[in-house]
Amino acid sequence: MTTNVFDTGSKITLDPSGKLLVPDNPIILFIEGDGTGPDIWRATVRVLDAAVAKAYGGNRRIFWQEILAGEKAYAATGSHLPQETLDAIQEYLVALKGPLTTPVGGGFRSINVTLRQVLDLYACIRPVRYYAGTPSPLREPEKTNMVVFRENTEDVYAGIEWPAKSPEARRVVEFLNAQMGCRLSPDAGIGIKTMSAAGSQRLIRKAIQYALAKGAPSVTLMHKGNIMKFTEGAFKTWGYELAQAEFADRVITEEQLWQEYDGRAPAGKVIIKDRIADSMFQQVLLRPEEYSVIATPNLNGDYLSDALAAQVGGLGMAPGANIGDPYAVFEATHGSAPKYANLDKINPSSLILSGAMMLEYLGWQEAADLIHRGLARTIQAKTVTYDLARLLPGATELSCSGFASALIDNLA
Ligand code: NAP
Repeated sequence: MTTNVFDTGSKITLDPSGKLLVPDNPIILFIEGDGTGPDIWRATVRVLDAAVAKAYGGNRRIFWQEILAGEKAYAATGSHLPQETLDAIQEYLVALKGPLTTPVGGGFRSINVTLRQVLDLYACIRPVRYYAGTPSPLREPEKTNMVVFRENTEDVYAGIEWPAKSPEARRVVEFLNAQMGCRLSPDAGIGIKTMSAAGSQRLIRKAIQYALAKGAPSVTLMHKGNIMKFTEGAFKTWGYELAQAEFADRVITEEQLWQEYDGRAPAGKVIIKDRIADSMFQQVLLRPEEYSVIATPNLNGDYLSDALAAQVGGLGMAPGANIGDPYAVFEATHGSAPKYANLDKINPSSLILSGAMMLEYLGWQEAADLIHRGLARTIQAKTVTYDLARLLPGATELSCSGFASALIDNLA
């Protein structure tokens, strides 16, 4: 291995078309996170640095720069999400984030939700992949290999809601009853579900672009449009319209697949299909091999991502990213698990795999591949943290940091 030639980092920038320009010594931001965040961050940074060093022999190196959010930010600045943190992400473009505790108290919005909305990180991307040897409730968990693209800014998650009997809720109820022919109880709580063509299509565009780039066989639009016609139903319609308008020569619909190609997909084409959300939950359990990239509105995506994570070993193994144009925040998908804070105990895989996603996003595929292979070897050797050890007969239980060391030894 050659000696590293970099003393300082350089900024990631964008070319005029918005494409990421990544130097060999990028400055990447990190948020350590609350509770168990520092434990998994320390484990993760060692793995990422080791993978980059191994893949590029000192010709590439990440320069990590801390930004504050959560309890650490509050202690230092009196704010859980200081403006400097948002400014830094806007300047440096890419961040890796540990879990943040949502402070309990009136009027406080989740820091995670605020980050997504302020930076317009509209695509929540959750790959779901099985690592051989991981305990799973399925008989053939290796058939589950999907990437969920969840819309992150609209739907009932936009936070437009008023409590039952509040003056605002009463006003909305009165309007709907008097002007729109509704018959709502005057005591109803109100939450608004909105979805737009632009909001849906930018998410679906990302999903189709991803499928094309990775050679994935299909993109499934998952929706509940049979009931919610003008939101979820429109999501499906807008998806097909976008596919036709922007990707006509590279995609086919499921209908075309059967009518024109006798059910055999022509090489290089991505099949666009759609499924009703409730049916999708049984489909991914019973016929997982038929699904690859899934594009879906916010609430469906929230449920489906966690359900799929459980199919391949649970949230401790599930990576995630929140991506917009042009900012990207990669994050562990589980919470801060505060009861294990500072015990060096929990599974760091979710943050490590989010880091591997980040490496792929930078175009550093070789380093990401090393991590995937190293993780697979570590699990196959049954050297795992407590959460997997309690489900794996004959396993050797490792600490959080011990698991990272074992993974680093397995980078090859
Ligand atoms: P949690 O922190 O995800 O933990 C719930 C349980 O899941 C843990 O007690 C543990 O189960 C298991 N677990 C989670 N992460 C694990 C890991 N890496 N390795 C092994 N086991 C793991 O959920 P929570 O207790 O509901 O939430 C705690 C705080 O986190 C809340 O303030 C919540 O708002 C916040 N949160 C943040 C994010 C985020 O930052 N993206 C996401 C979700 C929740 P066992 O007890 O069975 O060992």
